[in-house]
Amino acid sequence: LYDRDGWIWLDGEWLPWRDATTHLLTHSLHYGMGCFEGVRAYSGASGTHLFRAQAHTRRLVESAHILDIPLSFDSEALIEAQRQCLVRNELEDAYLKPTIFLGAEGLGLRAKGLTTHVMVAAWDLGAYITPQAALVGLRAITASWSRHHVNVTACRSKTNGNYVNSMMALNSAVKAGFDETVMLDTEGYVAEASAANIFLLRDGVLHTPPTTSCLQGITRDSVIQLARDVLGTEVVERRITRDELYTADEAFVTGTAAEILPLRELDGRHIGALKGAPAPTERVAADSFTARIQALYQRVTRGDLGDDLKAYASWLTPAG
Ligand code: PMP
Repeated sequence: LYDRDGWIWLDGEWLPWRDATTHLLTHSLHYGMGCFEGVRAYSGASGTHLFRAQAHTRRLVESAHILDIPLSFDSEALIEAQRQCLVRNELEDAYLKPTIFLGAEGLGLRAKGLTTHVMVAAWDLGAYITPQAALVGLRAITASWSRHHVNVTACRSKTNGNYVNSMMALNSAVKAGFDETVMLDTEGYVAEASAANIFLLRDGVLHTPPTTSCLQGITRDSVIQLARDVLGTEVVERRITRDELYTADEAFVTGTAAEILPLRELDGRHIGALKGAPAPTERVAADSFTARIQALYQRVTRGDLGDDLKAYASWLTPAG
C-alpha cells in the first residue's frame, strides 16, 4: 500500500499518499492504544455513497471516548473527510479506514501531552477474501484462543490492540488451511469470527450472540433490521454454543469488509448437511435465507432501494 498515487487526510490536511508517514516513536505503534473504523462506499445508479457513515462515525467517536482519547474533530467533520476522501481519490467502490492514534511526544504508559491524530485513507479493496467466498462460503475451525472478556478489554471500542487476539486466532486457522475462525467467549459460547459477527438460521429463526464479547457490528445491525422488517424473520439475540452451529440449517458471518459470507463448514461438520444444503464446493442455494439476505444487502448498499427498501435511504451518504 506504500507506493501509489492518492491523498490521505491527516488532522484536517491532505497529504500525498507517499508522504503520509509517521514517526517511529508514535505512541500507538508501541502499545496499540488507538481506534479505527472500516467503512465501505459503493457505486450504483445514483452515484457513490458511503454506507452507514453515521453509524461508523458514531462508533469511532465512542471508541475514542471509551479509550479516553480526546478528539478535536466532531462527527460532521469526520464524515466530511470521508466524503472528500472518495472524491480526491476518484474512488467509486472503496474501503475507508478512519483511524485515531496518539503522537510521538512521549513513550511509556505514563506519557502525557500526547497529540491525538486522526486520519482517513481510502482505496479499492474489492472482495474480502475472494469473490467466490460469497457464493460457496467459508470453511472455519473453532479458535483455541478465547475472544475478549468484558473485564479484560472494552469490546465496544474498535481498539487497534484488540486485533492481536483476532489475528492470533485467524493465523492459526489459515495456517491449518481454513478460511476463517469462530471465536468463543471465555465461558465457551460463540462470540464472533476474527473480524465479523456470526448468525445461524434454524427452523426459519435467525440467532446471533449478544454484543458482550463481540463487536457491535454495523452489518450485524443492518442484517437484523433487514431480516425483521423486510423479510419478516424472527431474530433472537442470545448465547449460542458451537454445536448449535454444527446443527444449524444455515450460518453466515457479517462485516463491512466481509459483507455477508456463508459459513459452510465448522470443525469438519458441513453446516446445513442435515437439511440437504449443497456440498461446500457448490454454490449456496438461491432460495436460501443467506442468499436472500445477501441480495437485499447488495441492493441497499448500492442504493437500489425500490419500495421495499426506501426506509433505508438514510443509510447512504453521497460522496463529495
Ligand atoms: N467483529 C470484529 C472483531 C470486527 O473487526 C468487525 C469488522 N469491523 C466486525 C465484527 C463487523 O463489524 P461491522 O459490521 O461494523 O464492520
